[in-house]
Amino acid sequence: MSEKLSFVNPTANSPWGTYLSQVDRVVPYLGPLARWVETLKRPKRALIVDVPIEMDDGTIAHFEGYRVQHNMSRGPGKGGVRFHPDVTLEEVMALSAWMTIKTAAVNLPYGGAKGGIRVDPKKLSLQELEKVTRRYTSEIGIIIGPHTDIPAPDVNTNAQIMAWMMDTYSMNVGGTATGVVTGKPLHLGGSLGRVKATGRGVFVTGREAARRLGLDLRGARIAVQGFGNVGSVAAELFAEAGAKIVAVQDHTGTIVNTNGLDLAKLVPISRTDGVVGFKAGGDIVPNEDFWDVACDILIPAALEGQLTAERAKKTTAKLVLEGANGPTVPEADDILAERGVLVVPDVICNAGGVTVSYFEWVQDFSSFFWDEDEINVRLDRIMMNALNQIWDTADKHKISLRTATYAVACERILMARQERGLYP
Ligand code: NAD
Repeated sequence: MSEKLSFVNPTANSPWGTYLSQVDRVVPYLGPLARWVETLKRPKRALIVDVPIEMDDGTIAHFEGYRVQHNMSRGPGKGGVRFHPDVTLEEVMALSAWMTIKTAAVNLPYGGAKGGIRVDPKKLSLQELEKVTRRYTSEIGIIIGPHTDIPAPDVNTNAQIMAWMMDTYSMNVGGTATGVVTGKPLHLGGSLGRVKATGRGVFVTGREAARRLGLDLRGARIAVQGFGNVGSVAAELFAEAGAKIVAVQDHTGTIVNTNGLDLAKLVPISRTDGVVGFKAGGDIVPNEDFWDVACDILIPAALEGQLTAERAKKTTAKLVLEGANGPTVPEADDILAERGVLVVPDVICNAGGVTVSYFEWVQDFSSFFWDEDEINVRLDRIMMNALNQIWDTADKHKISLRTATYAVACERILMARQERGLYP
């Protein structure tokens, strides 16, 4: 956050600043609804909480936690919880705002929210991790709930953490509230297909974008940054479709193999040792070299702000699929557009996760669970309908897919705002 603590004064090059400039670009396409656009430039509500826990060695540690509800015009808040040592309020604000745009872009009946704790979970024991999760959940319990704001997994959080969150919230309200979080384990009201949903959505939108570009996936060279839940699943699906995964980067380093990495071996090794653990399968190269590797498709699936102007100038990719939230800075967006590189923006490309989270929430309320085929068919249909509508909007106005996605989403959000009116 900038010196003057304010929603509208972003720190230079911050994700929140990126988001605000993305909103500015859509204003000319909003018509009379533009009078409401300021409501998108500030979160509805931002909560900062202290998370104190007793560590295994008897010391008391304090962590800073956040939950931001950006916009709830179209429904309850929805968005993940991130555990990372660099999490800031300003980052969570941006992530919550991107959720508002994303849920509207795929037309789910949600607003946008996000949470995070400034902690390195890799430095905690399992017991400490559980304590941090439970205390954080209890602190944000005053604003979350199945009908108000529904958290989910994000970077460094998973189904076990969602189970602890669901249990803590349930204990506090006296009942079993499965619908308070999504991304839960299957036997606690989780949904089939949720773990792979985001990577699958990246694949479905990427396959369609490649088809429209005339880019054959068989033999296409793909570079993937971030090899967690999103990046590894997307990589596997593209490899199944015949593509070659020529470079992968995670927090441990970068591995390159121009003949294609053997994912059946790389995926399990990466889970324990990171991608550099698979030395036998490729060359370990300096991290900056990742952006020079010759490829047809680039999938940033790690953190925001990774695709900078410099990197945008040198990538050889014809298609960028934003698995991560906010990976491309606005200047890089312009450079990619000038160079004729098509970007499928995060707010549609990685919307598969929140879509199956929506299915999970619906299934929890009805206590009736669907099989995986049904989930995947519905997911593919929603993603394809959303992408086609956005593509038509982009063609009509001759604008980027990102601005078209914002145009479609902002119209839905601001129309809801206008119809609801301002209280009081
Ligand atoms: P994850 O924790 O499963 O994986 C994150 C990956 O990024 C790991 O491979 C990690 O090693 C790598 N990474 C971290 N720091 C890095 C760095 N500095 N350089 C290179 N790699 C780095 O997280 P995830 O769920 O796969 O999320 C990845 C991105 O996708 C995030 O931007 C997240 O917000 C977004 N996203 C996730 C979901 C979801 O359902 N999980 C949904 C939508 C968007």
